[in-house]
Amino acid sequence: MQLKDKFGRTINYLRLSVTDRCNLRCTYCMPERGMTFAQRDQLLSYEELLHLVDMLGDLGISKVRLTGGEPFVRTDLPYFLKELRKRTFLEQISITSNLTLIRPHLDELLDLNIRDINVSLDALDRQGFFEITRKDEFEEVSKSLRLMIEKGFNLKLNCVVMKCKNEDQILPLLNFTKEHPVSVRFLEEMPFNGSGNGSSEVLSYKQILSLIETHYNYSPLVHESSSTSQNYQIDDFKGTFGVIPSFSRTFCGNCNRLRLAATGEMRTCLYGQDQLNLKELLRSVIPKDQMKKEIIEAVMNKSENGFAASNENEEKYLSMIKLGG
Ligand code: SAM
Ligand code: SF4
Repeated sequence: MQLKDKFGRTINYLRLSVTDRCNLRCTYCMPERGMTFAQRDQLLSYEELLHLVDMLGDLGISKVRLTGGEPFVRTDLPYFLKELRKRTFLEQISITSNLTLIRPHLDELLDLNIRDINVSLDALDRQGFFEITRKDEFEEVSKSLRLMIEKGFNLKLNCVVMKCKNEDQILPLLNFTKEHPVSVRFLEEMPFNGSGNGSSEVLSYKQILSLIETHYNYSPLVHESSSTSQNYQIDDFKGTFGVIPSFSRTFCGNCNRLRLAATGEMRTCLYGQDQLNLKELLRSVIPKDQMKKEIIEAVMNKSENGFAASNENEEKYLSMIKLGG
């Protein structure tokens, strides 16, 4: 069985949030104070998560990316990763992390052959990092980053570019790729900051590319059709860079994703409402076959694109940590 939607898109990629908590407070992701986080019993337990991964595996999910909140905030994450690794139907297991807590786990990750790590990094200096994340963790992140490069992790650095806040970080991040074989991706800011409002002015991927063009010649790279990033190479640089039109939403036609929040809400689009609560279904008495049917139907009805999904959504400005990262 392979999940598909009514537009013929194959859905084989799960973004799985293991916690809604985080030790940073990135301005574009959540307010500094006043966030309420789920209680333990509201979170899917590891056993429940594994059960759902198996069920989704039966429905054709073959790639999973753990996200959050910050995945390494959750106790015993290595146990969960080991159990996930036993699922041979998963061709790829990857993680999105802010790197503040990952360092003690690097060898375990390599042993499990988990090498694809996306890193949130919106500034390359201590003050800039503090202004965005509101925490003084740059030294730790920088140490982990360099160690992970040495150890051969496949790293993508994600920078959310915000007008007048960190536009000046674009060139230092690009320069970092001159000597280091990492990919830096510049994301458009999305309105998921938990404040009830989107940003008043979003810097578009076209504006980001124009800015880069004034400094460098670059050529396009071929990318997977389901990729959200348009990728480029600057001559003689060891790494590459990309732009992610996360607000312009130009990539929806090839979307292959499904999202599961740590509290069980399943979404077929980041911009849309949750369609099902898999935790509640799992904890109810409904037969598992019925539950699979409900998942298949929800996926079938995935919105055509993020604009259509947003139009149907009344809760537009939830924080990313509530949306399944
Ligand atoms: N804590 C981890 C991290 O930051 O890498 C994983 C969770 S975080 C919610 C996942 C990704 O969402 C990060 O790359 C972050 O930059 C991105 N993100 C969060 N809020 C965003 C927003 N409003 N617009 C664009 N990207 C956002
Ligand atoms: Fe935490 Fe990631 Fe959100 Fe930043 S983007 S506050 S690191 S969950």
